[in-house]
Amino acid sequence: MDQPESSLPHAAVQKGQTPRHEELVRLIAQSLYSLGYRKAAATLEAESGVPLYPPEHDRLLLDVMSGRWDACAATIDSLTGITERNRAVAEFLVWRGHFLELLGTGDAGLRLATEVLSRRIAPLAIDRRCVHWLARAVVTSEGAVAPEAVAECRIGLFLDLVEALPPWFRVPSGRLEHLVETAVIQQVASCIYHNLPDEVTLFEDHKCHEEQIPSDCRQILCAHKNEVWFVRFSNDGNYLASSSSDCTAIIWKVEEDDTLTKKYCLEGHKSPISFVAWSPNDRMLLTCGNGESLKLWNVDTGECNLKFGAAVKHIIASCAWFPNSEKIVCASSEPESSPNMIFTCDLEGQELEMWAGERIPKVSDLAVTPDGKHLICVMDSQ
Ligand SMILES: [Zn+2]
Repeated sequence: MDQPESSLPHAAVQKGQTPRHEELVRLIAQSLYSLGYRKAAATLEAESGVPLYPPEHDRLLLDVMSGRWDACAATIDSLTGITERNRAVAEFLVWRGHFLELLGTGDAGLRLATEVLSRRIAPLAIDRRCVHWLARAVVTSEGAVAPEAVAECRIGLFLDLVEALPPWFRVPSGRLEHLVETAVIQQVASCIYHNLPDEVTLFEDHKCHEEQIPSDCRQILCAHKNEVWFVRFSNDGNYLASSSSDCTAIIWKVEEDDTLTKKYCLEGHKSPISFVAWSPNDRMLLTCGNGESLKLWNVDTGECNLKFGAAVKHIIASCAWFPNSEKIVCASSEPESSPNMIFTCDLEGQELEMWAGERIPKVSDLAVTPDGKHLICVMDSQ
């Protein structure tokens, strides 16, 4: 891919460079290389006068591949912005590489290998266990690098080395993309009206506007005779269920014009209803409340299909459906003296599984994961 000539004079670009400018150019070049735009990246390096890697990088690579170990150590010693610990680790890697190559040359290299171990590796005081292992290797030859494997080992050594060296020495892969993603995530996280599942564009700062959060009152529903404690839309969005301290729940239909009309008033509870749960297929609705039994309602007819109190002798505080709409899980809300319980039921009201005892804390809410394999409980304690 041929790049057009920049309109900026080469000298002017270099003159205006700052450390941040240099870093940015290097990140862009690396990103271009990783995207496969090698010519564009090389052009950028040439035009900006900022190489992707500093001269020390290329020098070290050459010295490692040529086995010039003293030169490697000298380059590492000359680096700035590196902790003494990391400098020692890098030197340790170099001398260990040299040591293992010497072992691979057989008896001829043993004396020299022992010398490298005692004069170069041991004084660095890095990884005492590894030093002991290297000392044993003098006898066992374990880890020795065979002559035919030298080139591959040196590549591995260089890759290990750059990991130990400061970020300016190598450009961590995908760094520019990481910075962009971090900026997007932070903008979304700080967007107080965020209400958009859409992709966020990079071409402008992300900001949701107030209008994207519903804020106009479209309708007031007055059918309940007392406080409304809980509302929830059906999964398909065609209905809304509301529960109230007037001991009823109401199923509302969402009309074409998005207004709500009362479909059924569910009567039969003797205490306030604090919770409703739509079956995943939206054909049934569960209602329960403090000091109340659990009831199952048919959404099509508005009739109570089952009062769970007959078979389940517990007061249900919270309930949730399994994904197949054929099983539910409940958490009991018993008086202080009774143990707490979590149990599953079929739609005939028969208990299937139960967890009870002192170790079960009081559950205030629960949910089943979409795959039906896990249960999530909100406990009052623990
Ligand atoms: Zn937003």
